[in-house]
Amino acid sequence: MWNTAQRLHAALAGQVLTRSDFRVPRYATVNLTGQAVTEAVARGKHLLIRTDRTLTVHTHLKMDGYWRIQPSGRSSLGRSHQVRLVLGNTRWLAAGYLLGITEVLPTAREDQVVGHLGPDLLGPDWDPAAAVARLARTPDRPIGEALLDQRNLAGLGTVYLAETLFLRGVAPSRPVGSVDDLETLVDLAHRLLDANKTRLGHVTTGDTSPGRENWVYGRAGRPCRRCATPINRGEAGPAGQERLRFWCPNCQR
Ligand SMILES: [Zn+2]
Repeated sequence: MWNTAQRLHAALAGQVLTRSDFRVPRYATVNLTGQAVTEAVARGKHLLIRTDRTLTVHTHLKMDGYWRIQPSGRSSLGRSHQVRLVLGNTRWLAAGYLLGITEVLPTAREDQVVGHLGPDLLGPDWDPAAAVARLARTPDRPIGEALLDQRNLAGLGTVYLAETLFLRGVAPSRPVGSVDDLETLVDLAHRLLDANKTRLGHVTTGDTSPGRENWVYGRAGRPCRRCATPINRGEAGPAGQERLRFWCPNCQR
């Protein structure tokens, strides 16, 4: 999302919207043409596009969403039945496909949609101590679940969760309260995300060759790169929101 926000910002910020097309029933009559986009920012996995008339377009990709940006001169958007939102100016057209959330609200009320989020791992105000304080409120919760809870810290998904816990030697099932040095752990997550934010993939081993990018993520049943023990895969988390986990049962305790 950080990357997408950068691309949207480059295409839309400072320009007056000449096209505004909300294809979700609740906002179908909203028209932002004539308003200038002031910025596009990511907050965790949420995207906020702000205009000079103090409105914010709030979107979230959820499972299948994505954005496509193309020169405005091109005739067709492609897969138009999947389009939920189109914003464009004289130079660029940005289309959001299969967005899980598409809504418009006053910028002053953004807190209603992102105020619950913990410190943003890629935000300008990243604060590891604040993230640790939030994690510490639930000492009995499994660390693999607490780190994905965006109220504790915003921006971590299953890939970086798996890789961060492997690199710290911590099993995902371990209670938060028993993990030493949470600050080092969240700081490592921050550094992994930061190192990858401008590229499409996610490299945590330092090796960009195909199949060598990650330590444990996506490697179920294959030998651990450190100890050759087969990597475990499982699902865990609150009922209905189970998320994938990968870990080495030998390296991570
Ligand atoms: Zn191992």
